[in-house]
Amino acid sequence: MKTLAAIANGSGGFAVEEIEVSHPQPLEVLVQILAAGICHTDHASLWWKRPLIMGHEGAGIVKAVGAGVTRFMPGDRVLLNWAIPCGNCFQCRDQSPSLCEWSKPAHVLAPSCAHAHRQGTTLRGVPVDRSFNLGTLAGLTLVRQEALSPLPDFVPFSSACIVGCGVMTGFGSVMNSAKVKQGSSVAVLGVGGVGLNVIQGARIAGASKIIAIARKSARLETAKRFGATHTIQVGRDDPKLERAAEEVRLLTSGRGADYAFEATAIPELAFAPLRLIRDGGVALQLSGIHDPVSVDMQAFMWNKTYLAPLYGNCNPEIDFPRIFELYRKGELKLDELVTATYSIRQLPTALQEMLDGRSSKSVILFDHSEHFKSNDAS
Ligand SMILES: [Zn+2]
Ligand SMILES: [Zn+2]
Repeated sequence: MKTLAAIANGSGGFAVEEIEVSHPQPLEVLVQILAAGICHTDHASLWWKRPLIMGHEGAGIVKAVGAGVTRFMPGDRVLLNWAIPCGNCFQCRDQSPSLCEWSKPAHVLAPSCAHAHRQGTTLRGVPVDRSFNLGTLAGLTLVRQEALSPLPDFVPFSSACIVGCGVMTGFGSVMNSAKVKQGSSVAVLGVGGVGLNVIQGARIAGASKIIAIARKSARLETAKRFGATHTIQVGRDDPKLERAAEEVRLLTSGRGADYAFEATAIPELAFAPLRLIRDGGVALQLSGIHDPVSVDMQAFMWNKTYLAPLYGNCNPEIDFPRIFELYRKGELKLDELVTATYSIRQLPTALQEMLDGRSSKSVILFDHSEHFKSNDAS
């Protein structure tokens, strides 16, 4: 079957091209993508040194299943999850499926190892890799059944597609990684797609002070709607956040916050949350920063903990149903996170708006389906 897909060229560019996706092999599922979220990782994927079908956040409908697929049937609504657990390795058995040893994304494997993941998808007749073995910025994708979670009817595709990355990273880092305590104080540096989910996670966890820190006043207004109790606007003259840290101390009995989360994707700020916490507090860096940065070890005094959790320690079987239930009860906002929707042809605009910090989450909608008219007009 032919469909349109966004193809990164490996050297910073991309184009929308036609790909061919074959019928599912045993244990594979063919998914018709209806909505795909985009995040900073998609922009980074443009430089992953090989042609790649972009996208790792998505939701859609099962179109066909291969032999041996037991959990899904054609017509099922599904959410895709980029950290695909095998269920059998050391990490999966140790309740850390997001660290599955078998399912490392193709871009961290040597090209010679990645071939196993690209069977069944071709670009101009040549097998092509897919971002995180998903490639959600395409009308169709072929995935292992473990990459899918059931999606309840009450969640629109456009709101669901962002759960499998930004929402999970923010919410899960609060609940699973930091385990934020009721009545505690939380500082959040950066209020994009991840930071807003830290804020609403902290609100749901019962934090009594949630301090949002950002450069743009409009972002801070959004942060209040998601549960921030205080906001601090960082001036251009405060690049090391010294004044912002002083303001956090003033708001937290002179000590610093119990927890501080970095969600800016700015390498220089990787260790900044250490400045915002009290002695014995917990600092978390959620941006997946790989760049070399230096840190003054004094920043860890006294007895501060620094964590860089991956994907909010996601356990899809537990976390996704919990997120959907909180959404159903009106406690966790998803619709409001999606600030703009685009067609696949408008991907350049969508990426630019994200890079400019003008959107919380941008979503690409695929209108190849009558399902949009019948089930999901959003
Ligand atoms: Zn595993
Ligand atoms: Zn993402």
